[in-house]
Amino acid sequence: MIRPTLFVIAAAAISACRQPPERQIVAAAAEALGGRSRILAVKTLIIEGEGTNGNLGQDMTMDAASQHFVVSGYKRSVDIVNLRARTEQTRTPNFAYFQGPQAQKQVLGVDGDVGYNVAPNGTATRVSNAVARDRRAEIYHHPLKIVRAALDPETKLASPRTAGHEQVVDITTADGLMFTLAIDATTKLPTWVVSMTDNTNLGDVLIETAFDDYQDVGGLKVPRRFTIKTDKYRTAELRVTRQTIDGETGDLTAPHAATSAPAIAAPPPATVTAEQLAKGIWFLGGQSHHSVLVEFADHLTLIEAPQNDTRALAVIAKAKSLRPDKPLTQVVNTHHHFDHSGGIRAAIAEGLTVITHTANASFYRDAAARPHTIVPDALAKAPKPLKVMPVDEELELKDATMTVNLYHVAGNPHADTLLMAHFPREKILVEVDAFSPGAAVQPYAVNLEENISRRGLKVDRIVPLHGTIVPYSELLKIQ
Ligand SMILES: [Zn+2]
Repeated sequence: MIRPTLFVIAAAAISACRQPPERQIVAAAAEALGGRSRILAVKTLIIEGEGTNGNLGQDMTMDAASQHFVVSGYKRSVDIVNLRARTEQTRTPNFAYFQGPQAQKQVLGVDGDVGYNVAPNGTATRVSNAVARDRRAEIYHHPLKIVRAALDPETKLASPRTAGHEQVVDITTADGLMFTLAIDATTKLPTWVVSMTDNTNLGDVLIETAFDDYQDVGGLKVPRRFTIKTDKYRTAELRVTRQTIDGETGDLTAPHAATSAPAIAAPPPATVTAEQLAKGIWFLGGQSHHSVLVEFADHLTLIEAPQNDTRALAVIAKAKSLRPDKPLTQVVNTHHHFDHSGGIRAAIAEGLTVITHTANASFYRDAAARPHTIVPDALAKAPKPLKVMPVDEELELKDATMTVNLYHVAGNPHADTLLMAHFPREKILVEVDAFSPGAAVQPYAVNLEENISRRGLKVDRIVPLHGTIVPYSELLKIQ
């Protein structure tokens, strides 16, 4: 009886060694986590904890990391077999947030191809296909799900390699999702998973989830700490207080309001309206993010190329149609926030010189050079060099017909890179985010008024790039 047993053990050991190296990495990870059969039996995960969410593309400068949301009451329920997940959390800003300081409840879900959010009043709305794809990929950013997927014979494993103290393997699931998994060379426990996605401003970016501080739960090892980065920016950190395997998740199917809504494959088409404010000055509105066109003697300057290619190219086309006899040569960027700089690459593709605060110059140089292979944008299709005109405290744009002064809005808690534009002859002030007429909270408006007073600017009308044009007296009402 002894001999066959030894033989079986020896044969199993030889067959393990004979596995190709990429299978060996996955097999070792499965063993370290609690064993292949135990992993394959897992159906649901419930992760509870607390942590932080970052403020990517909306902080004081591009590289600042002082602003975040404190996350409490985090509960993520995942059906790893049917690719459904729902995250509930409460987040509270640690900074002067435009929606106010109060805690906000969020419910963010995905069910196969359908992503959705549920508002506090219970109303579910479908999110874009791109967001749904990211949420589906996020389900694999857990050691048990990624190793479970890697054990699937339909999954392709490739490029096994050693990097420092980690062993790394590329994983393509049967439905075409691609990941890279790293495991610790000693413990064999997964250390991180990355996948790639498209970001309007940053192009092709890696989303990385790092795993740390493993604990035993239900015969398996699971991490107690998750750290998520988008590109080089930390976007979330979670400390797990309780993790439940195969607990009762409740119904994770998408709400009917989301599944019955049409899929959102692209940003909505742009609507651009034009209103002449004075000779040589047009307000280009129509949706949430506005621009202003300025006419000089021999060229045109646009203030703001916001959001994305769709909006920016439509605004640029409208500008050219208003004065087809003059070249549009410049775009003023009010600040680096992603919703206001999302059209900068389109403006570069159109050959415009970017006028922006000095603190943004290196970020835009980087942004202009980044690959956009997943969703090729206008600049990816027609590369052009970036031309930047930096502004420190002020810059006068002036010729015989037009004068506009750009000023740094100093000390504003919204952004360190904020510029406002003043037309001294017309007494018009163009600004954004510092004062949004009609908004319920105005945490940045007092500072704007201080900047206007300090510089002794004469202003009759405020032309905001969010909201409607108002007399200057409206700003003075904000305390
Ligand atoms: Zn902003």
